[in-house]
Formats: sequence, structure tokens, C-alpha cells
Amino acid sequence: MQYRRLGTTGLQLSALSFGAWVTFGRQVDRSQARDLLALAHDHGVNFFDNAETYNNGMAEQLMGDVIADLRFPRDSYCVSSKVFFGAVEHPLPTQRGLSRKHVIEACHQALQRLRVDYLDLYFCHRPDPDTPIAETVAAMDTLIRQGKVLYWGTSEWPATAIHEAHRIARENRLVAPVVEQPQYNLLHRERVEVEYASLYDAYGMGTTIWSPLASGLLSGKYNDGVPAGSRLAQPGYEWLRESVLGQGDERIGKVRALQPIADELGASLAQLAIAWCLLNRHVSTVMLGASRREQLEQNLGALEVLPRLDAAIAERIRQAVGVA
Ligand code: NDP
Repeated sequence: MQYRRLGTTGLQLSALSFGAWVTFGRQVDRSQARDLLALAHDHGVNFFDNAETYNNGMAEQLMGDVIADLRFPRDSYCVSSKVFFGAVEHPLPTQRGLSRKHVIEACHQALQRLRVDYLDLYFCHRPDPDTPIAETVAAMDTLIRQGKVLYWGTSEWPATAIHEAHRIARENRLVAPVVEQPQYNLLHRERVEVEYASLYDAYGMGTTIWSPLASGLLSGKYNDGVPAGSRLAQPGYEWLRESVLGQGDERIGKVRALQPIADELGASLAQLAIAWCLLNRHVSTVMLGASRREQLEQNLGALEVLPRLDAAIAERIRQAVGVA
């Protein structure tokens, strides 16, 4: 495994990490979750990503249960939670968002579900138009001073809102965010590469990037339709299917164009796509998702493919996908 600093913090995260979205509490049962987490930890993965909303808290509960069972030393791994969407089906106004009340209560609930005394990383899962940013920054500062959170960050906030959070933190001597959690993959690049360009050096911001395979699309599994049991076939995720596949054949065409490059490198498409994310030095860790052991084994192999991505290959990849 390789380790990268989270921005300019001293925290070193594994270049490949592992997240629980969709899978934990839905596609994988307890013994599969145990197998996946053990495999990841054995490979040096030291960051496990979660959120209050993933299967309404069940993903955190399952992860906490299994990590306790596996007896990972607490200082050998990092775990995150995210606050915003709530952890129940139809949240009341106080059960969602980024108010001081919900940020603090959601943290307490995540600590219980994950069975830990502190969260290594705590993210504001989306911006909240109904809460002043100053209130959220102050709530995060409180949690950090109480020792319940070590580092805090944002997820999919516009760059302007991140600048605002830093201004408020600086003027009020509050702890500022150090990390953003954006989507980043070969088909979705603009925010990380362009919109956030001013943030990395200004604040030493790190990134934990999500959906490196665009929910599996970049593995090539959807080239000829939606396989039964796959993520885009899950009931309740029709919106995701529409967002991943609903733009005609253009994206599938790009995936197909990448296949010969992967073949030449002796890599799978998934490995190529994951390794490509690591070419960006502003990516602190690529968060993997997997519903099966074979997927995780294969995806962890992306690190062996990374040294093969020289400038000429990177240019061919760029031409295959065009503008993201
Ligand atoms: P990916 O884009 O890598 O998608 C993972 C899914 O793709 C797997 O669950 C599996 O789904 C399929 N897959 C993975 N590897 C392979 C393979 N080798 N061959 C074929 N299919 C494969 O990542 P995620 O979308 O899961 O994102 C990673 C993590 O990021 C999440 O778990 C979560 O922790 C975080 N995240 C954060 C978000 C945020 O808003 N902050 C949003 C989304 C994710 P299947 O087998 O079911 O088809």
C-alpha cells in the first residue's frame, strides 16, 4: 500500500480506501462485510468511509460491529461519518441538515453506531441552504475541541462556500475544514480539476474522492445492459441508474474506447480507471466500493498498474474520454 498525506495535515491515509455506500446493509451481509473489511485492512487500507444516511444508519452499525469483531487496533485505521441527509426514512427538520443541533446529535449517533470514541474524519455531506455556514463551522469546532472529531471537511460544497468557511474560521479562531469529498473519475473531472484549483494551495486541502468507477460504469459491466444484482439494478436506486446511464451511449462509448489501453497495460478497466485517479496529486485517497471480494481484490491491484501510466498513456486516456 502507498500512503498519502491528507492535504497538508499530518494524517497519512492509504492511497486506496474503502467505503460502505449502497453495499453495507443492503448488498452485503455481515459475513461478507467482515470478509471485505478484513481483506482491505490486510492490504494496508487504513480509511473506512461511512455516513449517517447510508442505509439509514445500518451501514455504520454493520461496519462498527464488524470492526469491533475483527479487533482492529483503534490506532491502525481511520473511520469517517457524514452529516446532512439524516438517518431515518422521513427526517424531521431537526433530524437533518447542518444546524448545530443536528451536527452534534448526528456525531453522537455515529459514534454509537460505529462503536468508537471519536471520528477521524467528519464531513458535511452537502451544503445546507437553511443554516448559516458560521453555525456549522462553530459546531464542528466544538466537536473537535471536545475530542469527538479529529478532522472535519465538506462533501460536494461549491468552492465559494469552502472559501467562506475558511474566512469564518480564520476571523473567529475556529478550526477550519481540511478536506473535501468530491466525486472524481474519468467521466467527472471538472469540480476537482477546475473549480477547486484555488483551494489546494490556499488551504492545504486534501480530497477523499468517491465513485472512481462512476458506480461501476468504468468497469465496463454496463456496456451491454444492466446485470441483475448490480448497483444500477437495485430497487430504490432508479435515480442513480438514470444519472449514470441516462445520457445516451456517449459515456459507454468512452468506456469502450478505454478497453484497448487497459488490455495493452495488462490491466482491467477498473484498475486503469482507479489508477488514473491517483495520477492527480490533489487526490489524497481513492475510496473504493465493492459488493464482492473479487472486486475488491481486483481494485486493490490498481496500485500495481499506476507505475505503467506514463505521460504517453495518460494522453491516450485523455483522448479516449475527451472532455469530462
Ligand atoms: P465505485 O464508483 O467504485 O462503485 C463501486 C461499485 O461498482 C461496487 O459496489 C460494485 O457494484 C461495482 N464494482 C466495483 N468494482 C468492480 C469491478 N472490479 N468489476 C465490476 N464491478 C465493480 O465507488 P462508489 O460509488 O461505491 O464510491 C466509493 C465510496 O465513496 C462509497 O462507498 C462511499 O463511501 C463514498 N461515496 C461518497 C459520496 C458522497 O456524496 N460523499 C457519494 C458516493 C460514494 P455492484 O457489484 O453492485 O455492481
